Amino acid sequence: MTYGGIEAGGTKWVCAVGEGPVDLRLLATLPTTTPEETIALAADFFSRNGKLDALGVGSFGPIDVRRGLITNTPKAGWANTDVVGMLSSALGVRVAFDTDVNAAALGEHRWGAAAGLDTFCYVTVGTGIGGGAMVNGRLLHGLVHPEFGHMRIPHDRDRDPFDGVCPFHGDCFEGLASGEAMRARWGTPAEMNDDAAAWALEAEYLALGLVNVISALSPQRIILGGGVAKQPMLLPLLRARIGNLLAEYIAAPDIVAPALGDRAGVLGAIELARQASR
Ligand code: ZN
Repeated sequence: MTYGGIEAGGTKWVCAVGEGPVDLRLLATLPTTTPEETIALAADFFSRNGKLDALGVGSFGPIDVRRGLITNTPKAGWANTDVVGMLSSALGVRVAFDTDVNAAALGEHRWGAAAGLDTFCYVTVGTGIGGGAMVNGRLLHGLVHPEFGHMRIPHDRDRDPFDGVCPFHGDCFEGLASGEAMRARWGTPAEMNDDAAAWALEAEYLALGLVNVISALSPQRIILGGGVAKQPMLLPLLRARIGNLLAEYIAAPDIVAPALGDRAGVLGAIELARQASR
């Protein structure tokens, strides 16, 4: 079988063909420009590389999972884009569709750090913050889909007077703790920031957000991906602070890096395609 996968991000689309990590044969990275242009480039990539049996897409959002749309995104030109309709009519294949973070969770479940678990979360801390979850063996959707990045967390304005960067909520979780928030607050991109105070504050916000996720969903493990999470001093600070906040009332799950690294999303999209074609 030949499956296609797309990790559809707000700045780039990563496309691949294969059945899993060992035979990920072709990868292309396409810029996210307009829906028409980006979807045409993706369709062209797949049609040049043989006939697909199914295609999976893990997309930035918010999305309408059932109708296959990107809905009210602030990304210019992309609101109400019929991703599934455009790709399936261009390629003549079945297209499975979910959030980018649910796709990454699914990839980690099939081949990575969540193998054998049935309730866990995948949280990405990059430019924004997103979270996907599997609960009792099924990806969690609900009315829309989880948006861990927009939880409200305590904001001590004496310690951190920064207003936050979320265009909808200001100082929500993403507004305070995303890579974009770090860049705006400290004037340095997160990956270039080596100030211990900056990472202590970041660990504080991530711990507050993740403790809410732990308390609400009881994940067996949390997989923490994204560029900001790669900072080596972050994970030890975060584990310690989470333990502290939980205060031994309930056990803290492991917080681990994605075993599939930056390929979790596109591999999860391939797994979405495989499941859709069964
Ligand atoms: Zn928000």
